[in-house]
Amino acid sequence: MSKKSLHNKRVWVTGHRGMVGSAICRQLAVNHDVNLLTVTHKELDLTDLAATQEWFEENKPEIIIHCAAKVGGIEANKNQPVEFLSENLAIGLNVIHSAAKYNVEKLVNLGSSCFYPKVSAQPISETSLLTGSLEPTNEAYALAKITLTKLCSFYRAQYNKDFITIVPTNLYGEGDNFDANHGHVISALITKFVEAKQDNTGKVELWGTGKPLREFIYVDDAAAGILMLTENYSSLEHINLSGGETVSIKELAVVIQELVGYQGEVVFDTSKPDGMMKKSLDNSAIAKLGWQPETSLVNGLQLTLNYYQQRDENYGI
Ligand code: GDP
Repeated sequence: MSKKSLHNKRVWVTGHRGMVGSAICRQLAVNHDVNLLTVTHKELDLTDLAATQEWFEENKPEIIIHCAAKVGGIEANKNQPVEFLSENLAIGLNVIHSAAKYNVEKLVNLGSSCFYPKVSAQPISETSLLTGSLEPTNEAYALAKITLTKLCSFYRAQYNKDFITIVPTNLYGEGDNFDANHGHVISALITKFVEAKQDNTGKVELWGTGKPLREFIYVDDAAAGILMLTENYSSLEHINLSGGETVSIKELAVVIQELVGYQGEVVFDTSKPDGMMKKSLDNSAIAKLGWQPETSLVNGLQLTLNYYQQRDENYGI
C-alpha cells in the first residue's frame, strides 16, 4: 500500500468549522507541517460547481480531506430527506469531480456507519455495504454517502485516482451540534440534562425505547485515525474507523445524567424512532494498521461536557 506524506503539502480540509473538520485542523496545526487550506461556507458554496472549480484553480490543493456535509440526528434526517440527499450529493460530486479534474494527489472521502443495511451482522464489516435495505430514518443521507463512496472507488478503478473512503462510527465531542432537536444523541442529551438542571425542570424526555446499541468514538481520536489513514491507506475498498465503546442509549443516558448531576426524572418517548437497534463497526482492518482509539467513553463525555459548559460561558448562550 503506497504511503502519502502530508509534509509540506497543500492540505484542504472541507467543512473545517464542523466537528470532524475542526478536530482535524487542530491536529494538523500541532502535529503536521502542512500548508492548511480552509474556506468558509459563506466564501464558497460547494454546491456551486463553477465556484468550486474556480477555488481549485486559485488554491491548488494537493490533498483533500472532505468533511463538509449536511449532518444531523435521527429526527433531522427523518424530516428533511430532500436536503440530506441532494445537498450531500451535490457537495460531494463537486469536490470529487474537481479533485479528479485538477489532479489532486489524494482525496479522503467520509462515509457513515448509517450507510450499512438496517439488518447487518454485528459488528458490521466493510463487505456488508449494499447487501440489504437501509434504515428508513437515515436513508437519504446514506444514499448520498454510498454514491460518493462508489464514485471514489470508480475513479480509482477507471482513472487510477488515489481516492479513499473512511467510514467512522458514531462520533461526538468538541464542536458537535448541541441543538436538542437536531443534534445526535450525545450532544442532545448533554443539552437536555444541563438545561433541565439549570431550570429545575423535573423531567427530561429522551427518544425511543432506550434499547438501541451504539458505538461511540471521541472526535479527536477519529481525527487522529483519519490522518493516519490519509497517510497509510490506499485502496478501492472503504475502511471502517471504529473500536470505540458500545452502549445502550439507556446506559449512555445514565452516565451523562451522573456527569451533569441532574437528579430529576427521565422518561422515554416511544413515539420517537429508535433507528437501527444495533450499530457497531468491525474494526479488524484498521486494527491491523496498529490503530485504536485512546479516549474512554466516560472521559470523552466529560471532555464534551466541559466544552459545552465553557462554550456557554464564552458566548453567554
Ligand atoms: P442514529 O445513530 O443515526 O440513530 O442517530 P442519533 O444519534 O440521533 O440517535 C441515536 C439513538 O439515540 C436513537 O435510538 C435515538 O432514538 C436515541 N435518542 C434518545 N434520545 C435522543 C435525543 O434526545 N436526541 C437524539 N438525536 N437521539 C436520541
